[in-house]
Amino acid sequence: MSTTTLKPTDIQAFTAEDFSPPDAFVNFCTNGGQPLDSIIGGKRVPGSMNAAIDVINPGTKEVLARVAEMGYDEVNLAVECGYQAYHGSWKRTSVEERAALVLKLVELFERDKDMFLACEILNGGKVSELAEGDMGVVRGSAEYFVGIARKALFGDSVAIRVGKRMNGYTHVEPWGVVAGIIPWNYPVVLTAWFMMPALMAGNCIIIKPSEETPLSALYFAKLAEEAGFPAGVINVLPGRGELTGKFISEHPGIRYISFTGSPGVGQAILQAADKHGTRVKREMGGNGSAIVCSDADPELVARMIGRNVNQHYGQTCSTIHRVFAERSVFDDFLEASQGFFKELVIGNQAKRGTQLGPVINSRQPQRIMEGIAFAKAKGADAILEGGHALVPGCNGYYLKPTLLRSPTGSNCNPSEVFHTFVNVQPVDSVEQALQFANNTLYGLGSSVWTKDLELGQRIAKQFRDGTGQVNCHNTVADGIPYAGQGISGGPGGGVSCADTLRDYLQTKAIYVSEYLG
Ligand code: NAD
Repeated sequence: MSTTTLKPTDIQAFTAEDFSPPDAFVNFCTNGGQPLDSIIGGKRVPGSMNAAIDVINPGTKEVLARVAEMGYDEVNLAVECGYQAYHGSWKRTSVEERAALVLKLVELFERDKDMFLACEILNGGKVSELAEGDMGVVRGSAEYFVGIARKALFGDSVAIRVGKRMNGYTHVEPWGVVAGIIPWNYPVVLTAWFMMPALMAGNCIIIKPSEETPLSALYFAKLAEEAGFPAGVINVLPGRGELTGKFISEHPGIRYISFTGSPGVGQAILQAADKHGTRVKREMGGNGSAIVCSDADPELVARMIGRNVNQHYGQTCSTIHRVFAERSVFDDFLEASQGFFKELVIGNQAKRGTQLGPVINSRQPQRIMEGIAFAKAKGADAILEGGHALVPGCNGYYLKPTLLRSPTGSNCNPSEVFHTFVNVQPVDSVEQALQFANNTLYGLGSSVWTKDLELGQRIAKQFRDGTGQVNCHNTVADGIPYAGQGISGGPGGGVSCADTLRDYLQTKAIYVSEYLG
């Protein structure tokens, strides 16, 4: 590994450039004054419930679009259309035919990248630096799963002799119709992470985007049609979780569900789906920790951790909410963290210079304030109090960052808060830090910050999390599973790895005995 020397001030928070949406985005959202329909079996379906959801810009509360909500009948229809497409032709397509369509879709995605940026920035509330980063994930994911599918075994394995007159072999095939239920915070990344392996494995897919950020999935479906996917292979059903999402998780025709979202909802989906034997994979929330070792430069590391804490304003699943710093660097680390968080420019996410934009909806501020109040009641001191922030000219959901200091060994924030919120605690040793870091039900991603890469890796392997990181955080890579432990994930092999493709396939055991009559 080569070494690069950074000055603390080289590390800045993710920052916005000015962004205005293309006219095509405004036209797409306006849709001639009608709510945007779902796409089922290649057709626009307005939904039998005659209900629509307002899709807003959380920075201004402007209604960007209205989106029709899908009910039980549409979930049924999507399952039916999915099977028609699957048995009609999709089941017989070769890996190369599927790869050509997937890569064509990526080409169209890149052509219309500004539409997706508009979805992420205006509807999702992201700053452009982060939203731009999300865009690169789509090609990476597609190419990775094309490569994995080319090497995967589909169909029959070589038969082995399993008895005197008996052979046995495995038969691998897609599930048929699968569903992806997606959270609001990384809609483009997660749609790609679900769609690419599902399609390359040969399934038809039903995508249920979040009611907060459904626009990019709907636009993906439009591009899928242009790319030439047969009708019914990609279906997008917007709607609320407790309605559309629930109907999906209760539908016995859906053989596999991939869910990303909060642990509570993941638990409900697992229970609903288990009643009829649908397999479920869940990637859920975290309560990430960071350990700062005594050999680390406290100022540099405070800024690096601060950048990760504030990634999408802490609304990233494995964000750092808990920091354990060795006593020798604790005071300097806390002071430098305070400096970093105080400097954050709070503002409209589409305006140049903004680093801390709005949270996604009206429910989040209350939830975040409750997390702060809970930590304080348990003994944490507020270094930066958090609370509502005013952004002139914008009436969105803006909050200040929260920096807390808590007594050694206290467990002041046991739950995911989902904002730029961090609780720092002094510890006597790295071993003690590890013990505190692991004192949680979550297990998504944690990190250790040290010059000693051997020590770092030893610690990283002892986190209870699915992802352990040395001198980095919020890291993902194609080929390496992104998978939570504890209430943060499972079962299944995580996303973005070879096991992900296998999860979208079923393996049957076939035994053939000679006819003895
Ligand atoms: P959420 O759990 O509220 O919703 C996720 C999805 O589930 C949405 O599409 C929602 O409509 C649907 N849903 C809600 N109730 C449902 C029900 N009863 N049945 C079926 N579907 C239902 O999560 P959110 O607020 O959209 O996203 C934030 C959460 O997602 C956080 O906990 C975050 O950490 C987590 N997350 C995890 C990862 C990961 O990879 N581990 C990535 C991103 C977000």
